[in-house]
Amino acid sequence: MVLAVEQAGSLLNQLEWYHEFTPVSIYIETGFFSCPPPAADNDSPYRNQTGYLKKGDMRIMGRKIVVLDTTLRDGEQVPGAKLNLQEKLRIAQQLKTLKVDIIEAGFPISSQGDFEAVRRIAKEVVDGPVITALARAVKADIDAVYESVKEAQKPLIHIVLGVSDSHIQAKLRKSKEAIMQMGVDAVKYAKTLLPEVQYSTEDATRADFEYLWQTIEAAVKAGATIINVPDTVGYAVPEEFGELIRKLNYRLKNTNDKVLLSVHCHNDTGLATANTLAAVKNGADKVECTLNGIGERAGNAALEEVVVGIRLRADYYGAYTNIATREIKATSTLVSNLMGLEVQVNKAVTGDNAFAHSSGIHQDGLLKDRGTYEILRPEDVGVENMELILTARSGRHAFKSAIAPFLHGQPSEADFEQLFARFLELADMKKEIYNHDLYHIAEAYYAAREDNPYAGAESLYELQTLQVVSNDIFPSASVKIRCGNQIFKDSAVGDGPIDALYKAINQVVKLDVQLLEYKISSISKGNEALGRVHLKISHNGVIHSGKAVDTDIIKASAEAYLSALNQVLLESWKAERSAVQ
Ligand SMILES: [Zn+2]
Repeated sequence: MVLAVEQAGSLLNQLEWYHEFTPVSIYIETGFFSCPPPAADNDSPYRNQTGYLKKGDMRIMGRKIVVLDTTLRDGEQVPGAKLNLQEKLRIAQQLKTLKVDIIEAGFPISSQGDFEAVRRIAKEVVDGPVITALARAVKADIDAVYESVKEAQKPLIHIVLGVSDSHIQAKLRKSKEAIMQMGVDAVKYAKTLLPEVQYSTEDATRADFEYLWQTIEAAVKAGATIINVPDTVGYAVPEEFGELIRKLNYRLKNTNDKVLLSVHCHNDTGLATANTLAAVKNGADKVECTLNGIGERAGNAALEEVVVGIRLRADYYGAYTNIATREIKATSTLVSNLMGLEVQVNKAVTGDNAFAHSSGIHQDGLLKDRGTYEILRPEDVGVENMELILTARSGRHAFKSAIAPFLHGQPSEADFEQLFARFLELADMKKEIYNHDLYHIAEAYYAAREDNPYAGAESLYELQTLQVVSNDIFPSASVKIRCGNQIFKDSAVGDGPIDALYKAINQVVKLDVQLLEYKISSISKGNEALGRVHLKISHNGVIHSGKAVDTDIIKASAEAYLSALNQVLLESWKAERSAVQ
């Protein structure tokens, strides 16, 4: 039985009340009645696609969700986060490695620099993402976008125009009809330049629904291939937004089922991810996000949260993305470093503490079965070497398993209590206990014994004292470092106090390492404020991190660096030992 599209549409109209019918199945139904199956109109790189999701042994049919990253456009609007051309190119290349479907590279009419950056990205980021840039619904903007993206293998023009009453009256000062016509003319003009055009209905969530739909319908008839529904000011709530998307998607797919429905959510009340996911559940084909959720004001929907959310609950959303999730952490770090925007430590997925369990109860559960408290594996998002950071609250069980690799055989109960007491003492003093601290606890414990397995063994480096002189001409540092029974002293001059300090330490430790990342943050208030230094070094291509907490940030810097260097030594000893065995 083949029905005309209109007939199928009216049949489905009668079914609209039937809530069990998700937009997905309605879409499949229209395919059954009158349209070719979705996979068959895969004439564009980001057209509706279906694929299989694996859940255990089951294979579930799912929709592909197209991911547009706007870190370089919406994200770059953050004050003070301006990037230069080379930095933008680096991020765009990493976004390609992350496998985003579309990169929104900038707003070319805004400046010559932005235009040039979009042009270079379009030209150089090849064999992967669609490249787009933003235009207002005026000819000069559209021309600038076209000129900057035309060299891309897959170019797209993105037009934005207000659709809410406040945008139309206060900002645009024209009648609703005139605005709609302006949008239609813009799409028609863009279509004379490129086949792929996205139309964004700015402030859609505060617009009159029927006017919003009329605008969308007019844009589609004018040739728009993607309709984007922005929650520009972060006004939406998940249930309501999901319902809006369900209604729009239903009408859109019955008007032209090749047009993608997209959402773009802002995070003013912390709901950007929830709203985006509600839209996916209700039929949105495409999501717009930024890394670490950066963007104007409270930012945009965070790519890592939306992508991981869909992946973790593929069974619920019936959807998947193409994102190479193992590249998430590296991309997040690159964006954070180049923009100088620190990621909050407890940020979902990409925060430093996202996978660090310090509560004793959790650590205990985690050690028994990772599934207990960890539904997301750190390695799935590219977080390697998850370290259980021990604190005074970690408890006996967590300490026991953390210290085990440094002990030779099982300690007696009395000995263990002695070790644990020393740990608590140190934890009270240092707040956080890392691997090298555990090594020192074990070393000290055996030192008094005759059967000391550490006797004659290699030792780790320990800071004794330091002096740093900071001035404009010769910032210099002197260090005294202990290693086993030996004491080393050295000094160096550097470009700054930390550089001088690390040069002096390098002269003692003599390991060939590169400092990749150095972050300093305050973790408490008042005169006794603690500074935490967190850094990363690379040694023979392997990355090691070091952390330290102290009221003296110069001392914390030295301790963190030595901690990372000691980590290199611990790893190499481990490798030697396992090679011997
Ligand atoms: Zn935005």
